Amino acid sequence: MIKILIVEDERPISNLIDMSLRGAGYACTCAYDGTAAADLLEEERFDLVLLDIMLPGANGYELMEFIRPMGIPVIFLTAKTSVMDKVRGLRMGADDYLAKPFEIIELLARVETVLRRYHKTEALLEAGDVVIDQESRVVRKAGVPVNLTKKEFDLLVLFVQNKGIALFRENIYERVWESEYTGDSRTVDLHVQRLRRKIGWKDKIKPVYKVGYRLEL
Ligand code: CA
Repeated sequence: MIKILIVEDERPISNLIDMSLRGAGYACTCAYDGTAAADLLEEERFDLVLLDIMLPGANGYELMEFIRPMGIPVIFLTAKTSVMDKVRGLRMGADDYLAKPFEIIELLARVETVLRRYHKTEALLEAGDVVIDQESRVVRKAGVPVNLTKKEFDLLVLFVQNKGIALFRENIYERVWESEYTGDSRTVDLHVQRLRRKIGWKDKIKPVYKVGYRLEL
């Protein structure tokens, strides 16, 4: 599981970020001042730090000096929206910058982008607003987890890995059920219908006449 350290002294903001990231399947730890953050960074290994600038104890810029040699990606969180602060943060080696107040969907998108840049999300597959974590087998649509059965999950991965390609029922069956296709299309059709409904892709997984299905995004 991806571990994120949230360094933010304003509790309501910290709680909101914590809740949102947990909801999206990340493991989170919160630090409410610079000293506690430095202690945690020494004790544990994190995949990403969300770092506020104005903090009691050590401020975000000071902490950045501490984090940089560790090679952990950092996204600065700050109420400051001036270009100079943004430039300073990025020059110091921050990977991105998020000005408060921000939308949760923007936070999630930036977290995903930075993690991907660091290849911490190799197991992640994306299609539109759907993100598939092949390691934890968690599927999120617009950040919200979707409950899929094992076969539905495998079917989704197959479609996403073959976007725009018409897949024969026979191939779908053999790939997902890992056994020989007997010509009975009902199993495949039933699972495709259920997957479409759960993921909200009724108009995206399209039937292909005499073949099977194709994912069009
Ligand atoms: Ca602050």
